[in-house]
Amino acid sequence: MRKNIVAGNWKMNLNLQEGVALATALNEALKDKTVNCDVVIGTPFIHLASVVNAVDTTKIGVAAQNCADKASGAYTGEIAASMIASTGATYVILGHSERRAYYHETAEILKEKVLLALANGLTPIFCIGEVLEEREAEKHFEVVKSQIESSLFDLSAEDFGKIVLAYEPVWAIGTGKTATAAQAQEMHAFIRETLVAKYGKDVADNTSILYGGSCNASNAKELFSNPDVDGGLIGGASLGVDKFMPIIEAF
Ligand code: PEP
Repeated sequence: MRKNIVAGNWKMNLNLQEGVALATALNEALKDKTVNCDVVIGTPFIHLASVVNAVDTTKIGVAAQNCADKASGAYTGEIAASMIASTGATYVILGHSERRAYYHETAEILKEKVLLALANGLTPIFCIGEVLEEREAEKHFEVVKSQIESSLFDLSAEDFGKIVLAYEPVWAIGTGKTATAAQAQEMHAFIRETLVAKYGKDVADNTSILYGGSCNASNAKELFSNPDVDGGLIGGASLGVDKFMPIIEAF
């Protein structure tokens, strides 16, 4: 059966020392606890190796927030999936709306990134979600379906089984506006039906679909209590143990 996952996305926050301190504190907080979900932290590239060393990776998975769409070579400033894997990180967040909007990541580019992540043994946390105008125009289902189809539906069922999805309505990211539990469940159920139609019930039932968008200690329990919401991708509230732990413990 699918896993519950609470994943933090630190974005471009915290210098190396601050990041290691946060990871160490989270590791300490989780040390003697049994929690009912997998915990992941998505750090800036330069933090990965140090954060991997600072935590018990059997309890905390470490994620990059992006990877290159090329395997290696003359791509100045890029970071390959193989390099991420070599740090001991095991996840990579791909297709975040900030990458799509500010760095012009297209469905085609994301397709390449997913393939490279999988080829290097990384679990992609693949983000999808509509902007406000699309929801207001009642195009949100269509948009999300097309984001999934265009970047992921050429994968075999076996490879698709390695993907974690994160539904992040863009209007809810960093805005303090959360989708209601009903809106989240409605979209997650739709996504799962889309997966059933393409890959069958087993693959769909085994796919973790996380919710992201201003998820915090006060709304996590309600969001996670929905049958198709298998956890969260957490931005702002992952930047402190005091804010992140209650979300983990919402399961
Ligand atoms: C995110 O960026 O993935 C996110 C969900 O951010 P926030 O929790 O801050 O809305």
